[in-house]
Amino acid sequence: MGDKPLRDRASLITGASRGIGRAIALRLAASGSDVGLVARHRVPLEETAAACAELGVRTQIAALDIADPAAVQDGVGSIVEKLGRIDHLVNNAGVVADGLLLRMKRDQWDRVIQVNLGGAFDMTRAVLPSMVKARYGRIVNISSVVALMGNPGQTNYCAAKAGLIGLTKSLAREVASRGITVNAVAPGFIETDMTRELSPESRSKLAALIPLDRLGTPDDVAAAVGFLLGPGGSYITGEVLNVSGGLYM
Ligand code: NAP
Repeated sequence: MGDKPLRDRASLITGASRGIGRAIALRLAASGSDVGLVARHRVPLEETAAACAELGVRTQIAALDIADPAAVQDGVGSIVEKLGRIDHLVNNAGVVADGLLLRMKRDQWDRVIQVNLGGAFDMTRAVLPSMVKARYGRIVNISSVVALMGNPGQTNYCAAKAGLIGLTKSLAREVASRGITVNAVAPGFIETDMTRELSPESRSKLAALIPLDRLGTPDDVAAAVGFLLGPGGSYITGEVLNVSGGLYM
C-alpha cells in the first residue's frame, strides 16, 4: 500500500473534466485508483483521462448527461466493462441556473434539480448493486455549504444540494450493514469556472466572510474526498464535511 492507499480500487467521478471533479480524479489516480470519468463534453474528459493515465492508472471515460437515466446506465456499464469494478462513486457534477424565485422559470428549477439531485440518484442506482454484492463501497456526494446556509438567488440549487444531504444520510443508513459508507462534502466558495464570473468586488466581499481569508481551491476539496475514500474514512458515514475555510461552521 505505502503511498498508494487506493491501489487496486476503481473510482467513478462525475463532472471530472474540470474544476473540483478534475482535481478529485487526479488525487485519486495519484493514490493508485483506476478512474472512470463522466461529463458531457468528450475532449476535456480525454484530457483529464490522459493526465490520470500519466500517474500509472487505468482510465475510462463516458461522455453523457447525468440527467439522462438511460445514458447513465449505458455509460456506467461501459466503465465497469473496462475497469472491472467500481469501489468508489463521487457524485460531483453540478450546474447552477441562478435567479430570484419570483423570476425563476420552471425549467431553471427542473434542470438544476434533475442534474444535481436526479443525476446523483441515477448514478448511485447504477453502481450500488455491485457494491452491495462486493460488500464494500464508498460514496461521496458533493453538496455545498449553501445547502446549510441558504443563498438568495439559488433556491433551486440550494434545494438540490440540501436534497443530496438527505439522500446521503438516508442511504448511509440503508447500506451501512453492507460495508458501504455514504458521506457528503460541502464546499464553500472554490475557484472554478462556476465562480469565475464573480466581479473583483464580490470576490473580496466574499473573502472577507471567510475566516481563513481566501477562496478555496479544487485541491482543498479533493483532499477531503481522498480522506473519506481512504483508510482514514472507514468509520465515517452519513456525515457532512464542510470545506469552506470556516464560511460555515
Ligand atoms: P464546474 O467547474 O462548472 O464543473 C462542472 C463539471 O460537471 C464539469 O466537468 C461539467 O462538464 C460537468 N457537468 C455539468 N453538467 C453535467 C451533466 N448534466 N452531466 C454530466 N456532467 C455534467 O463546477 P465546479 O465548481 O468544479 O463544481 C463541482 C461540484 O462542486 C458541483 O456539484 C458544484 O455544485 C459543487 N460546488 C462548487 C462550489 C464552487 O464554489 N465552485 C461550491 C460548492 C459546491 P460538462 O460541462 O462537459 O458536462
